[in-house]
Amino acid sequence: MYRLRAKKILSQNYLMDMNINRKIAKHAKVNENDWVIEIGPGPGGITRAILEAGASRLDVVEIDNRFIPPLQHLAEAADSRMFIHHKDALRTEIGDIWKKEPNRPSSVPWHDSNLPQMHVIGNLPFNIASPLIIKYLRDMSYRRGVWEYGRVPLTLTFQLEVAKRLCSPIACDTRSRISIMAQYVAEPKMVFQISGSCFVPRPQVDVGVVRFVPRKTPLVKTSFEVLEKLCRQVFHYRQKYVEKGLKTLYPPEMENEMADELLKKCRIDPTTTSIKLGMEQFADLAEGYNEQCIRHPGLFLYDYTNKQHNLESLSKEQYPLPPPVPV
Ligand code: SAM
Repeated sequence: MYRLRAKKILSQNYLMDMNINRKIAKHAKVNENDWVIEIGPGPGGITRAILEAGASRLDVVEIDNRFIPPLQHLAEAADSRMFIHHKDALRTEIGDIWKKEPNRPSSVPWHDSNLPQMHVIGNLPFNIASPLIIKYLRDMSYRRGVWEYGRVPLTLTFQLEVAKRLCSPIACDTRSRISIMAQYVAEPKMVFQISGSCFVPRPQVDVGVVRFVPRKTPLVKTSFEVLEKLCRQVFHYRQKYVEKGLKTLYPPEMENEMADELLKKCRIDPTTTSIKLGMEQFADLAEGYNEQCIRHPGLFLYDYTNKQHNLESLSKEQYPLPPPVPV
């Protein structure tokens, strides 16, 4: 109707099959009267499925102005249930969207077994899926943004490889930094896969739909940032001993002593590899590294790729170690 063509730069691959769109809404567990934020609605296939499922409010965040008229068309037919935000999702604080809405569903205490009647859903462009999930996992860990309202579940699509990494168990080839970051704060589950042939235009890869339910208690007590830095270095040399990656956390003059201290404290064999480390071991390593950062001001800012970095000058920078996340 609007003669829209996919823009490659925005990674636009549309899902035109309403059965799949309904399957996404169903697996996201959208029920009557729920409130939903959809990222990247495009021509509005999943949008329609969410409205059909009975959501009483749906806010969509779309960057491409060409989709605004068709989305407005949908909104007009949706009896004041749908609101359009013509914005870049990467620069949008989605928690602000409902902040001033007194009629939003009640917040649910974080440790309650029930989830709030709210959802974040999206068939994301592949190029923003990774930075966006990191942003959302960080917000989830601090219980800010939409996670101020409780353990709001997220249902997002990823290229299959990324979906497998997010959900990867220990000792699998797909285990990586993103597996740890996703699994310590949430329980990600690949709910189904979609063949690339179901998209228009057809992408090179298949797609995995992943639903993340925030955990009542995160499996690691340090801040998101401390764990993220530790994981980045530990997974840096995937095929090598874990000790090699760990050493890159420290300036050369202290790397042997500090890496050795951390491994001994955590009772981890220095010759194991990163993919064989379980979540408990990551928790011990992150807490041990956090302690070392407190003992050695500036250590958290140390970047081994920056030849200018030394602890003495870094310790003078006004960057506090991020506080532990709420438990
Ligand atoms: N949800 C639609 C579907 O399933 O058919 C479209 C999916 S398409 C893979 C991704 C959509 O996200 C496009 O409509 C694109 O314009 C939009 N998009 C891309 N980057 C975005 C961003 N940074 N913020 C918001 N929307 C974005």
